[in-house]
Amino acid sequence: MSYTLEPIGVVHSCFSEKFAIPRQPQLAPAATGILELFPPYNQPEALVGLEHVSHLWLLFVFHAADSGPKHLRVRPPRLGGNQRIGVFASRATHRPNPLGQSVVKLEGIVDGKLLLSGIDLLDGTPVLDIKPYVPYADALPEARNDLAPAPPAPILVEWSALALTQADEHGERLRTDLRGLIEQCLAQDPKPAYQQPEPSREYGGRFWDLNVRWHYPAADCIRVIDIQQVNLPD
Ligand code: SAM
Repeated sequence: MSYTLEPIGVVHSCFSEKFAIPRQPQLAPAATGILELFPPYNQPEALVGLEHVSHLWLLFVFHAADSGPKHLRVRPPRLGGNQRIGVFASRATHRPNPLGQSVVKLEGIVDGKLLLSGIDLLDGTPVLDIKPYVPYADALPEARNDLAPAPPAPILVEWSALALTQADEHGERLRTDLRGLIEQCLAQDPKPAYQQPEPSREYGGRFWDLNVRWHYPAADCIRVIDIQQVNLPD
């Protein structure tokens, strides 16, 4: 038995590559995107009632997940990248069907487009369905997950004077809280947990049309070096 699913829309997101996207939604409240709905779902009738809803579940396709053989066990970055658990105990993107789910904040609706924040979605992510978050059913105070009991502890993010100026300039151009976005994402420490970077080793990540460079002056500290505008492929 197989099923064919058609996307109802696509997310235009601040994340133009996978590296440095937080590993779950809500970890970077400044991460924003726009969900563009495809006809006929872009009509007002489909959105009536959403004015009563603060958060949404997005069900989406990991369209940029690695292809290749599926494994029954995976090594989540959260566990340091060297401990294997069953794929169904993880939120890994490489899974039997490349389906993801994220709770995101609905900031508003403009011209049939949904303005979102707190996202963990790559630019271009196809969305299969939207459902309202229902606090009494979806937020369970007694729920536990001993593999991920709490959000990862954020690490310190420092800025060069140049990077701060550039963040403010580009933030104004893009009309977004760029400082907040970069700081919240880098505080999650995007590098694989097993890497012990030399202070001289530079890392880079793409946010919007920007390349952000940073390094690790100490194991638990990131310093943003600079921010350069780049030409993104169409
Ligand atoms: N909250 C979702 C879930 O639980 O299904 C996603 C969790 S997954 C661990 C989060 C990672 O998925 C992000 O760090 C990012 O690298 C990756 N990602 C986001 N959008 C993607 C896409 N469209 N295709 C492939 N990977 C994606």
